Amino acid sequence: MRLDTHDHDRDGAGLKHIYPVVSRRAGGLSIGINLNPNNACNFRCVYCQVPELVAGKAETCDLDLLEKELREFLEWVLNGDFMESVVPEGSRRLNDLAFSGNGEPTSAPNFDETVTLVGRIMEEFSLIGQAKLILISNGSLCEQEPVQRGLQSLNQIGGEVWFKLDAATSSGQERINSYTGGLARVKKNLAACAGTAPTWLQTCLFSMDGEPPGREERAAYLDFLRWTRAASIDLSGVLLYGLARPSLQPEAERLAALDKAWLEAFAEEVRTTGLEVRVSP
Ligand code: SF4
Repeated sequence: MRLDTHDHDRDGAGLKHIYPVVSRRAGGLSIGINLNPNNACNFRCVYCQVPELVAGKAETCDLDLLEKELREFLEWVLNGDFMESVVPEGSRRLNDLAFSGNGEPTSAPNFDETVTLVGRIMEEFSLIGQAKLILISNGSLCEQEPVQRGLQSLNQIGGEVWFKLDAATSSGQERINSYTGGLARVKKNLAACAGTAPTWLQTCLFSMDGEPPGREERAAYLDFLRWTRAASIDLSGVLLYGLARPSLQPEAERLAALDKAWLEAFAEEVRTTGLEVRVSP
């Protein structure tokens, strides 16, 4: 195995729950924690890179297996030859551990226990404060009690959430994410999330059928951000990212990456809301 920033193969390490990624966003090694080996998600994003994505949720995670895989993998990364033999020079640092799998991680019925477990192992490996713990989520279940418990644990161990918001209109969310819960529900989930753990909004931007996000969608997005300010929802900032790898969904042919200048121009508009913005073209 040899990793580069284009290789996000979740079977790369031959493990069920753990996969390594050299992240262009992070500038180092990210250890992915996949709670959805069944490729099931309650969203269906047009740009999703999960192969054979199915509608559904994660199964209950086998905590013993997750613990065994994470311990052995961390041993290899921190005390073995993983970095030298697998990771390209210049990226040989452990940046983060990320709940980011082939579906929505918070849909695992024992998601909260997985966070507690990962936090305990990070503590044993002296990683708290050294490597970030990130939950990459579509945010749609954040109001639920078991997810709230997981977010509380995440907060206690210094973790953060990247909460997906690809459009700020109900129609845009339906078109991009096949999410039909409506914008009011998104607002409630975001308030519940950001009220419990540090939260970044993450937004994937691309053109569809040759058209970048239109004026109305962009205005709605900026309005949404202004609403978070007015509603005292404390966001860490906004992550704007482009299409780096091809979609594995039927819409793949209709999507194209936006150029860096477009993303940077939109980032400038977003900064007028007073929020920090990071761009990953
Ligand atoms: S939320 Fe993530 S895993 Fe689910 S469909 Fe969207 S991109 Fe894929």
